[in-house]
Amino acid sequence: MGGAISLLAVNFVIAQIFTAAFLVIAAKSRSRRAALYCAGGFAIASLAAVFETVVPFTSTPRLFAIGAFASVLAGFCLLRFGLGVFYRVPANWLVLAAFFLASVALDLVIYQWPRGTLQHSSLYQLPFFIIQAWSASVVIRSKRRSAADRVLLSLLALTAGYYVLKVFVAVVAGSGATAQDYVSSPFALISQALGAVLIVGTGLAMLGVMVMEIVDDARARSEIDLLSGLFNRRGFTERVAPMLQRREGRLPGTLILADLDRFKLVNDSYGHHAGDEVIRQFARVLKDVMPNHAVAGRLGGEEFAVFLPSTELEEARVVAHGMRAAMMSQQIDGLAEQARVTASFGVAAIAKDEPLELAMQRADKALYAAKENGRNRVECAAAPQTVVNPQVPQWIGRP
Ligand code: GH3
Ligand code: MG
Ligand code: MG
Repeated sequence: MGGAISLLAVNFVIAQIFTAAFLVIAAKSRSRRAALYCAGGFAIASLAAVFETVVPFTSTPRLFAIGAFASVLAGFCLLRFGLGVFYRVPANWLVLAAFFLASVALDLVIYQWPRGTLQHSSLYQLPFFIIQAWSASVVIRSKRRSAADRVLLSLLALTAGYYVLKVFVAVVAGSGATAQDYVSSPFALISQALGAVLIVGTGLAMLGVMVMEIVDDARARSEIDLLSGLFNRRGFTERVAPMLQRREGRLPGTLILADLDRFKLVNDSYGHHAGDEVIRQFARVLKDVMPNHAVAGRLGGEEFAVFLPSTELEEARVVAHGMRAAMMSQQIDGLAEQARVTASFGVAAIAKDEPLELAMQRADKALYAAKENGRNRVECAAAPQTVVNPQVPQWIGRP
């Protein structure tokens, strides 16, 4: 009996630790509601250990045994609800409540049935199997398949399988002749030990997916420029460089660099706030004119870049002209009604195997030429010098 009771105590503490961990996640995550349901789920499920411990010592064991059953199931229902909120596969409260009440009613009905039989065990474990399989189906239906999602899915499926296994273990090993005998049965020891492992595994996996979401959000925030809503330099290069690598052997694409003309004058004449509005407006123009699959970023100050995958130089030049013309016709809040802000553009076709950095330098030279030639212009960069593989010494292959 001591072993099973110790395990019940361990499970209680584990569930409390997870409650606290989900509360911390709730404070940091945009999936606050989901984390709060999970915290509630673990808190309620932890009560089962208390009820289970009281059962052998009380004159109303039925009450506490059913309390244990109901608290574990209610906890799982809350976890199912939380997962549904997190994965955007919502559960219907009414269906979940009806399932819970029907399961508790079923447990009341079978309470007096002989324990350790196939009928009793399978009906006792059925609701747990259903709720775990139901939770696993949430991850499947969400279509999210990151490593953390897969681990969680596997553990939920494994836990569902564990409840099927429990049916047979209860029949073979015996789960105690009465509810009071449960804690001293070998079944209780196996059940609580395996249960603890699965609770820890599933709880950690659920925390894992929520922590990954927080990390992904933080990374996305660090790659976005707040003023323009476009990628910042880091976000831009981190998007484009891998796209170029994936395009190996195919037409890599083109790069447009843009810089607002005489922007300092805008700031000096209308103030920094109006200057900020110009930056916002230019970002909107770039997004409106560029094709859907293009990537746009604000590299800093009033300098922008747009990457057009699988695009020839001429096509990109036309896009840049479209951006230039669109900006020229914008009336901007905070500026005089007739005032217009223009931009200059440098376009470069990225050569096969050319690193992004080199293509940027060529586009920048073209942009400089556009400024030199009078601004509010588009200039194209000359094709790059033959790109050499820096790993291969230059003299190889030469006579
Ligand atoms: P050019 O046509 O040669 O590009 O001239 P310019 O005045 O646009 O270029 P310059 O580099 O002399 O000035 C850029 C100005 O952009 C100076 C800086 O104060 C301003 N700037 C940089 N970042 C921001 C910003 O976030 N908001 C505002 N309002 N101004 C900014
Ligand atoms: Mg400028
Ligand atoms: Mg500049």
